[in-house]
Amino acid sequence: MLIYGRLFGRLFYDMNTNNRIILRGGTLVHEGKQTVADVAILNGRIECIAPSIEATDNDRVFDCTGKIITPGLVDLHVHLREPGFSRKETIATGTAAAAHGGFTTVCSMPNLEPAPDTMENLQQQLSIIERDAVVKVLPYATITRKRRGDELVDFSALKPYVAGFSDDGSGVHSGEVMQAAMYEAAKCGGIIAAHCEVNELLRKGYIHDGEYAKAHGHRGICSESEWAQIERDIELAAKADCRYHVCHISTKESVALIREAKRRGVKITCETGPHYLTMCDQDLQENGRFKMNPPIRSAEDRDALVAGLQDGTIDVVATDHAPHTADEKSRGLELSAMGVVGLETSFAVIYTKLVKTGVISLEKAIDVMAEAPRRIFGLGGGLQEGEAADIAVFDLDATFTVDPTTFLTMGRSTPFEGWELQGECCLTLVDGKIAYEKR
Ligand SMILES: [Zn+2]
Repeated sequence: MLIYGRLFGRLFYDMNTNNRIILRGGTLVHEGKQTVADVAILNGRIECIAPSIEATDNDRVFDCTGKIITPGLVDLHVHLREPGFSRKETIATGTAAAAHGGFTTVCSMPNLEPAPDTMENLQQQLSIIERDAVVKVLPYATITRKRRGDELVDFSALKPYVAGFSDDGSGVHSGEVMQAAMYEAAKCGGIIAAHCEVNELLRKGYIHDGEYAKAHGHRGICSESEWAQIERDIELAAKADCRYHVCHISTKESVALIREAKRRGVKITCETGPHYLTMCDQDLQENGRFKMNPPIRSAEDRDALVAGLQDGTIDVVATDHAPHTADEKSRGLELSAMGVVGLETSFAVIYTKLVKTGVISLEKAIDVMAEAPRRIFGLGGGLQEGEAADIAVFDLDATFTVDPTTFLTMGRSTPFEGWELQGECCLTLVDGKIAYEKR
């Protein structure tokens, strides 16, 4: 809670309103169960959860009958692009998109200009967050200065202000540097969130090195480029006794390595994205909206990720929301920038493709999208009296076709374009304030 106090203490709103919000008759989904109840929110906090709460004339009442009420979703992996790349996204547009998707906290990746590698550089981002964010934004600091992979940042100085440490966008090439980083992180109780990628194995690839690449004459990225670095880091993390979180895993070998490391007691967690769980390289088209790093892999990899989600090897679903300009995404598979948007489709993709089909339960979906990220990163919150009112309301019966022109993000490139999905966010509250309301 220290982090929230420092980072978010001044961010949010006029708390002096006496007007309560009452969420009436929804089904609360949290901590592995479903309960029908009313929720009253006052002064930014959950005042009361009870079978029936009486409203006064001053209360704003939302009829949530037939809808679900969840802890606000948390996305551990987003690119908000500010400072430095506001042609792609801003903190204002990225957090508006987050609220639209039911997210109340997002963790922003540090491939920025300047990169958050000193307090001074981090402060530039914190100032924009304070001014423009409509959901809570917790930045990552880099692991190394300018993400160059050599000189370490000052872990203990940055730790109170960040979610963790990541050089996301690139792997940390040197095992020695990563080992030293892990000792530093362990010393101050920080988490390393690793983008695992071995540069020498990339060979100018840009989609998965599989059947589609062969059939269409594309250069592939082999699975080993991801899992070889995870394999290395597991040993380093075990040695340093460091909390180690693997970003966006995409291969079946990564799942197997992490499953085994957890069995050994290594302090390891990991995330994967909705697109890796629901697509394979046979779904690719000759369009930049199917290009991201790591790439969408084979059907076997997809199935291994789903099994990893089911058995708890994969802790978290995170979007890797990575907006680019229309021009940057218009150059086909080979030449487009890597990255797709995800904040406004994530819940509906998981609900439609994994929950409705019986692959995972609704309670599990809420765990991996809201509760597990809070536990792993120590964020606090949840649907409890006295906690901050960070809450999302979803209409599971509402269907929609994914139409990027309706997104609030500046990015328009998504492999889910045209998908028919079910499960729409209708209300997002951040510290009791309406961050998104469906009109
Ligand atoms: Zn990454």
